[in-house]
Amino acid sequence: MAEVQEKGTISINTENIFPIIKKFLYSDHEIFLRELVSNAVDATQKLKKLASLGEYSEELGDLKIEVSFDKKKKTITVSDKGIGMTADEIKKYINQIAFSGATEFIEKFKDKTDAKDIIGKFGLGFYSAFMVADKVELISRSYTAGEKEAARWECDGSTEFELSPAVKKQRGTDVILHINNDSEEFLDEWRLKGILEKYCKFLPVEIKFGTKEESIEDGEDKDGKKKYKTVTVDRIINNTQPLWAKSPADLKDEDYLKFYKELYPFSEDPLFWIHLNVDYPFTLTGVLYFPKVKNDFELQKNKIQLYSRQVFITDEVKDVVPDFLMLLHGVLDSPDIPLNVSRSYLQSDSNVKKISQHITKKVADKLQEMFKKDRTDFEKKWDDINIFVKYGIISDEKFYDRAKEFTLLKNTEGKYFTLDEYKDKVKEIQKDKDKQVIYLYTTDAGKQDSFIQAARNKAYDVLVLDGILDSHFINALEQKLDKTHIKRVDSDPIDKLIHKDEKTESVLSSEEQEQLKGVFEKAINNKNMTVVVEPMSPDEFPVVITMSEFMRRMKDMAKVGGGGYPFMGSMPDAYSVAVNGNHALIQRIVKAGSEDEKLKLAKQAFDLALLSQNMLTGPDLTRFIKRSLEFVS
Ligand code: ADP
Repeated sequence: MAEVQEKGTISINTENIFPIIKKFLYSDHEIFLRELVSNAVDATQKLKKLASLGEYSEELGDLKIEVSFDKKKKTITVSDKGIGMTADEIKKYINQIAFSGATEFIEKFKDKTDAKDIIGKFGLGFYSAFMVADKVELISRSYTAGEKEAARWECDGSTEFELSPAVKKQRGTDVILHINNDSEEFLDEWRLKGILEKYCKFLPVEIKFGTKEESIEDGEDKDGKKKYKTVTVDRIINNTQPLWAKSPADLKDEDYLKFYKELYPFSEDPLFWIHLNVDYPFTLTGVLYFPKVKNDFELQKNKIQLYSRQVFITDEVKDVVPDFLMLLHGVLDSPDIPLNVSRSYLQSDSNVKKISQHITKKVADKLQEMFKKDRTDFEKKWDDINIFVKYGIISDEKFYDRAKEFTLLKNTEGKYFTLDEYKDKVKEIQKDKDKQVIYLYTTDAGKQDSFIQAARNKAYDVLVLDGILDSHFINALEQKLDKTHIKRVDSDPIDKLIHKDEKTESVLSSEEQEQLKGVFEKAINNKNMTVVVEPMSPDEFPVVITMSEFMRRMKDMAKVGGGGYPFMGSMPDAYSVAVNGNHALIQRIVKAGSEDEKLKLAKQAFDLALLSQNMLTGPDLTRFIKRSLEFVS
């Protein structure tokens, strides 16, 4: 054993930082491996850089990083063949720099437990090893030093360290962790492999972890059949050239689809994707995929992954990508995102804002390009992509400015219109009594069929807005459109929704109307149903049940969450029952001989209205059928 060259105290102003590291970084112990492997990658990249600059002329050789463990000795070792460190450099980089912020660290983070916020900010990367180790050895040979000029550093988790000369055959650094009793879980092949695959899957230098068996060709047998043999090869856990780091010009659709499967093995193919590649004013690369979204909100399960120079950082990208793009999948890689600081800081960081705006612009550009290039194809995709566009419009003012050109509205005939086209189509015909343009929509063409028919019979158009976000979208769109209201087709009888100059005269006198109202109120007997008698055209239904647009929309929005008036969600449904005084059946009720007869007919007319809207169920439905049978037998 070499003689100890130097003993010293790690330069911090406080007694012992390690118990603090252990305590406060508790929740995320596995990060130690990411930190050590990242350091090894940096050291390797630095050496490559020196070589490319002609400042290192020896053979680079195999630059693989190796992670290994020894269950018996209770060690985990990370070895690289990078630039290494001299004894002086160890003193400078490991002993001093790492702890320059230690005092501040202790002051600031006394009450915090979020390891990701702390590591890195104070250069604790290397020292995160002490979360899992009682003792750490570092043996390093600088690219400038010979075999016998290596250095060995050792620290047992106190502020004391030892530095001594060492002999090391290969250039580079070995970091050997003597795992503490509480961390023996890490002395396990699957645990380590899992951590490496999580954080190091796309690091740019090959990382070897153990070996694996592989079957390779081994000539032919005497019948000309291929022979195979099994060999043991290094198990490389990473893909050093992930797709986003390549040039889009070199990539085919299959490559993007294959990479998507690599990221999310059990997912359906995405619809399309955007390859991001920005150099200025910040650096950002990445690929964002538009997944096929079913009409439910199981969207968040495949999250966007955030990398910094190919090191996995997190898949909690809230605040980095615009809210509505959380629906997308894929990866973002940027060294300019301050990853190790708190949420509130991220939100106000100007780089993060710029990145977020840039992504929004790119997404809008891509959609615009698709729309312009092939409208028919875009219309075909619209049912799948409208959720992204609508979410964007709801949550991002800037996005709307771009999206208004390619946002489509679909009507009950399955035809698509841009916002401008649609306005032109209906603006002359569909107005209310205040001269506001009225867009009609349905959320369920099957259930609201009678209302759709009533509107279509008058040559009005009805939009289909039946997606999960549509109540919010309608609200946002209404605020953007000038002098326009958007109303569900069953929010009022059609002649009330859309104004016509010719007035329908009432056949009934006002006393008759008053009396009729009383009959219906008694027959319906429900305080949440308000009866109004109105003269409509005789070919309308005798009774029309409606819920006001405002009430319905607030309720729908409360259901999806985020906006509207949440308390509306728990309010009872309130309906309006319009009785068509000009309908033959209603006139029959007025003329009926007995009170009983009137009530029975009124009930029947009301039940028919309920039935036409799928609102008649249970005992009410049974009673209705019995009564109908009496009428017809
Ligand atoms: P950071 O990586 O954020 O600088 P660390 O505490 O992880 O902080 O490392 C401190 C310094 O020690 C590094 O900047 C580097 O100069 C040096 N270092 C750490 N690990 C290695 C290694 N494997 N090879 C060469 N130098 C290293």
